[in-house]
Amino acid sequence: MWIDGTVPTAEIRSKTKILADGENPGIWGFDGSSTNQASGDNSDVVLQPVFQCPDPIRGGDDILVMCECLLTKDLSPHPTNTRAMAVAAMEKYGDQQPLFGLEQEYTMLDPVSSWPYGFPSHGYPGPQGPYYCGVGAVKIAGRDLVEEHTTLCIKAGLAISGTNAEVMPGQWEFQIGPVDTVTVGDHMWIARYLLFRIGEKYNVEMSLDAKPMKGDWNGAGMHTNFSTNKMRESYDAIIAACEALGAPGKPEEHIAVYGHGIQDRLTGAHETQRYDQFSYGVSDRGASIRIPWQVAKDQKGYIEDRRPNANADPYAVAALITNTCCSVLA
Ligand code: ADP
Ligand code: MN
Ligand code: MN
Ligand code: MN
Repeated sequence: MWIDGTVPTAEIRSKTKILADGENPGIWGFDGSSTNQASGDNSDVVLQPVFQCPDPIRGGDDILVMCECLLTKDLSPHPTNTRAMAVAAMEKYGDQQPLFGLEQEYTMLDPVSSWPYGFPSHGYPGPQGPYYCGVGAVKIAGRDLVEEHTTLCIKAGLAISGTNAEVMPGQWEFQIGPVDTVTVGDHMWIARYLLFRIGEKYNVEMSLDAKPMKGDWNGAGMHTNFSTNKMRESYDAIIAACEALGAPGKPEEHIAVYGHGIQDRLTGAHETQRYDQFSYGVSDRGASIRIPWQVAKDQKGYIEDRRPNANADPYAVAALITNTCCSVLA
């Protein structure tokens, strides 16, 4: 599998290679003119295996292999290769031991009508309130699929740390982490792949759209929890990280990589701060950055950047936050 060049939102692609007994995956390639990554007259893009885990769907000795895209001319990173940016950030700031925990929200949709699972077929459910972490047939749709996805992630050895039903019916969340800047992207993209495979099996669209339902319905985000060794030891470092994210020019730079359609989701309503304003605060779900109450109490821990969209690229998000915060905390 690899990350393609689809605009405005990159997608995961995959194909299958049959290996002889004991054979390694090795360098491979694909037709980049079919993924918005090359022109037809110079179409080959190189696949470099970089991360692998057990394939929990096929089982046995089978593996899932995440690849980076490289250019044929000098085997340098392809412009769409955001993982290379995460690797560079880790090489520069790995001594600060950055850790990320991502909360991936998503929405189950009917693949033909794009109407959410759990919504009546020709109307709307009752207003938001009872659905978040809800239980029971009236409030919940799709739990079997969530449980199956969770089991696949565990069998693959991914750092999945929890799941919950979300505020809008048909919306769910799983969390990956805490793991480092590169690993969080590897695990998240493979967890997304497994989610889409569950969607194929049950003919449900697993959507990462940031605002699938207009109106008084929550959007879907990828809250990004972040810490460094200093932040895990001191509250001064927690505040310094918040200030680094709010420094002149930084909010705009971050919003630009936090996912397509972010203006529709970060409206200031539905537990968000506006996309064009920056704030941080303890327990504040209307701020750009939330400092969890436990962190304020313990005077150390981590911060939650609430801005990234569900459709953001975890490699790009983790690389940017690492660079912005670690350059100040160094
Ligand atoms: P919320 O209350 O925002 O819904 P969640 O429980 O869904 O929070 O997610 C919290 C996330 O924070 C988890 O993914 C967890 O792995 C992550 N996390 C916990 N501690 C740290 C830490 N020190 N650094 C980075 N992430 C952390
Ligand atoms: Mn959560
Ligand atoms: Mn959530
Ligand atoms: Mn959160």
